[in-house]
Order: sequence, then structure tokens, then C-alpha cells
Amino acid sequence: MDTQIRGKAVGFVLFAAMIFLSIYFQRQQAQTDAEQAAAGQVAAEQQAESGAGQQLGSDAGQQAGSDAGQQLGSDARQQAGNSVGQQADMEKKIALTFDDGPHPVYTKLLLDGLRERGVKATFFVVGENIPGREDIIRQMAQDGHLIGNHTYDHCDISSLSAEEACRELKKTSDLVEQITGNATAYVRPPFGKWDDALDCRTSMIAVKWTVDPMDWTTKNTSQVVAKVLEAAAENDIILLHDYYESSVKAALEIVDRLQAEGFTFVTVEELLLE
Ligand SMILES: [Zn+2]
Repeated sequence: MDTQIRGKAVGFVLFAAMIFLSIYFQRQQAQTDAEQAAAGQVAAEQQAESGAGQQLGSDAGQQAGSDAGQQLGSDARQQAGNSVGQQADMEKKIALTFDDGPHPVYTKLLLDGLRERGVKATFFVVGENIPGREDIIRQMAQDGHLIGNHTYDHCDISSLSAEEACRELKKTSDLVEQITGNATAYVRPPFGKWDDALDCRTSMIAVKWTVDPMDWTTKNTSQVVAKVLEAAAENDIILLHDYYESSVKAALEIVDRLQAEGFTFVTVEELLLE
């Protein structure tokens, strides 16, 4: 009996142990499955993140590439700009201006000489000198010169009332406009006297000068040429008078000499717009 009971007991213990072990292993298995599943999940997530990373990397790469492209574009633009700038730098600009005309003989001579040399200049004309010389004004415009205003009767406009001064300027501007179709936008005040308080100043730009050989005092061609060449530099505005033969001859000699030095003659407008 004892043996039987012991046998049953052992059997029971073994059975219980098997069940226990079975449950234990099942649990272990389940846990492993769960862990594996969880690990799989993590791996999947990692992969997903990695994918995102690649995407991010790709975006960054693209962005970098794009930036590089933009940089390149910017460099190219800069280079193009530099090249244009260098070209502009190489062109030393200077302006010839002539006051007091038009003269019936000397202004024509001057226009012929400037045309032969491909030079553009600025003429500040006196209104009372225009009647009967309209063809000269027309020629100035046709040749591409700028026509400015030097009042109607060469008066000191700073001594006039604003109303009178504006009338002086308008009279000349109207004459020029009747002939060329364009009013005058630039004024050279006689004696360099310009009153900034003038009402009409908003529609007129006063233009002074930087080189004045005092051509009307000497009327000596070689002296005028020497004085201008001595002083002339880039962006200068040279003052001469086309009312004297000596000044016209000097002007053409100045053009020849300065063109040989690489200067380009432009209108005052082109110089001021730089
Ligand atoms: Zn003058």
C-alpha cells in the first residue's frame, strides 16, 4: 500500500511538475513571443525611422544641392555683375558742356566735329539766341546731344523773383520743345547762381561744372586745351562756350586727346544717372 501511495504521490508530483513546467514553458514561450514581437515592432520602428532619416538625409542633400545651386547662381550673377562693373569701370566717362549758344557759325562747326568723333555733349542754350537758328537746335537733338536751359536772356536768376525766374526758364524750354518735341529738364544757371528756393526747381535739375578753363577770358585755344587736360579726370563736367571759335577748336582738340587716353564723352544726364 505504501508503495502504491508513494507511487501515486510521485506520479502526482511528477504530473504536477510537468503541468507546472508546461505552464512555465508556455509562459516563457509567450513571453519570448511577446518580446520577439516587441523587438520586431522596435525593429520596424527603427527601420521606419531610418527610412525617415534617409528621407531627411535626402532632403538635406537636396537642400544642400539646391543651396549649392543657388550659391552657384549667385556666384555666376556676381561674376556677371563684376564683369559688367569692370566694363563700366574701364569706360572712363567725362562730359563736355557748352554754354551761351547757339552761335550761327561756331556751334555748327562744333556739331560737325563732334559728329565725326562720335561724341555726345550737352548744350545749355540761351533762349534769345534761338530764333533764326532753329536748324542748329534740331541738329543737336538729331545728333543725340542733350539740350539744357541757360535762361532766355542770360540773366542772374537768383536775383529774380521765383515767378520771373521760372518765366525765364520756361520761355527757353518752350522754344526748344517747339523745335525738338522735348522740354528742357536740366538748367545751368548763368554765373552759376541758382536759388534752391526757386519754385520751378522741382522740374529742373541745376547742373554746375567741375572743370572751368575760363575759355571766354583768354580766347586762346592752346591755353584752354592745356588747362582742361591738366585737370580732366573721370566723371568731370567740363565747361566751355560754343560762342567762340577758340573754344570750339579747343573742344575738338580736347576730345581727340582724351579719347586717346580712353575717355568716353557722354551727356550730363548719362553722367548724373550713374
Ligand atoms: Zn553763360
